[in-house]
Amino acid sequence: MTDFETYTSIEHELEHEVQHECGVFGIYAPQPVEAAQIAYYGLYALQHRGQQGCGIVINDDGLFYEHRDLGLISQVFTPEVIGKLPMGQIAVAHTRYSSAKSDHRANCQPIIVQHIKGHTALAHNGKLTNSRELRDELELQGSIFHTTSDTEVISYLITKERLTAPSIEEALNRAMHRLKGSFSLVLMSSSKLVAARDENGIHPLCYGQCTDGTYIVASESCALEACSADFIREIEPGEIVVFSAEGVHSIKDHCNKQPKATCIFEYVYTARPDSQIDGLGVHDSRLRAGACLARRHPADADVVIGVPDSGLDAAIGFARESGIPFEIGFLKNKYIGRTFISPTQAMRQNQVRIKLNPISSAVRGKRVVMVDDSIVRGTTCKRIVSLLRHAGATEVHVRLSSPKFLNPCYYGTDIYSKENLIACKYDTEGIREYIGADSVGYLDLEDLPEIVGVKDCAGFGGSCNGYCCGCFDGVYPTELPKDTGKRPYETKLSEREAKQ
Ligand code: SF4
Repeated sequence: MTDFETYTSIEHELEHEVQHECGVFGIYAPQPVEAAQIAYYGLYALQHRGQQGCGIVINDDGLFYEHRDLGLISQVFTPEVIGKLPMGQIAVAHTRYSSAKSDHRANCQPIIVQHIKGHTALAHNGKLTNSRELRDELELQGSIFHTTSDTEVISYLITKERLTAPSIEEALNRAMHRLKGSFSLVLMSSSKLVAARDENGIHPLCYGQCTDGTYIVASESCALEACSADFIREIEPGEIVVFSAEGVHSIKDHCNKQPKATCIFEYVYTARPDSQIDGLGVHDSRLRAGACLARRHPADADVVIGVPDSGLDAAIGFARESGIPFEIGFLKNKYIGRTFISPTQAMRQNQVRIKLNPISSAVRGKRVVMVDDSIVRGTTCKRIVSLLRHAGATEVHVRLSSPKFLNPCYYGTDIYSKENLIACKYDTEGIREYIGADSVGYLDLEDLPEIVGVKDCAGFGGSCNGYCCGCFDGVYPTELPKDTGKRPYETKLSEREAKQ
């Protein structure tokens, strides 16, 4: 194994096996405010949605000031950087997850486009299912792309429409007829902030207001609270909301065109437990998942622990339902950045324990129920089970607060193919054997409605009415991409970056 391969495998062990692809944030204030500071707090609250890069663009009297880079919010936005950004009335911001293969600076958002009618800055969360076709079409018409991101495709489409549309919101409204797949976006012109969500409402987007009248738009409600904004409401699937000197107005031409299909994995893993999505608290849904799991897969055990962070709430739900005491079973060191590399092989192998260490006194001599949100490849889970055994657990019963991952996600969560999914390789007994547990239990597809409090499961054909459960049940709310391959140049670029 080369040094790079060793480092990469450790990175995989240190990180959750699934990553989401982004968080967006926007500000519209009636008068200039410390927009960079506010955006910084908002992005900080959305850091869990992407740790590879981030950016803020401030609109100061029609002029855009930007800073974007790879790294965590605290690394990219130092006090010096924040101090150099001006006050402003409008701002958009973004925190990004990318696979290692597209982890380069140019893909950091927001993306700024200048055109004959002005300029815009766009930040986007999600993934288009027709981006290849749109990109080819735009390139054939003369567009020159600087990134490999869908965001640039959306930006160019909006710009193209803007050349003939009377307003930025109308340009977006027209462009949305061409956009397929998932997008929650914030768009800034010289005088407006515009927010929009795809017709299925796959990923969340909401807005609120501060006491000084400043509007905040964010991927999750926890970011509103971080800026002391009161939650007003979710942006509806297909809705465009415009914030300007004329107030707030909504365009609903794309509403009620498609069945609502919010990503159920937002509740299981992606969103922060202190957020609410579509009126439902994420923490509450995880408690319900844990309780449901305890009924479906009870265990004779002495203690219930959760894998931090997203397994904790479900573990509490499991413990309450089963009557088995809940304990904090792991210490998670939150201060390890992605550039943490130690010099020797021995030290590298120790890094998993540096990041996640069992609390021996909580598990020693005990039969342990370990609750996590999901298993993707199984490598992380196997490692954690082994850590618990070394810490003295006599039995380890693994419980997963979601059904088996059996299908890819096409909407922005990095489950790209079935190849790496352990549930596609093994049955439950095979998974148990691979991860070295005493027993394994998953939620069933039929449990999904309960975790989001839905009774009617007719839906669009999937497991749960109003929710996308595609990676679990293989039923997707949109057409799937026709072409997911990379172009030769993109493949070479990925290979080069993997070597660096
Ligand atoms: S396929 Fe899975 S991860 Fe992707 S949007 Fe649907 S539920 Fe969410």
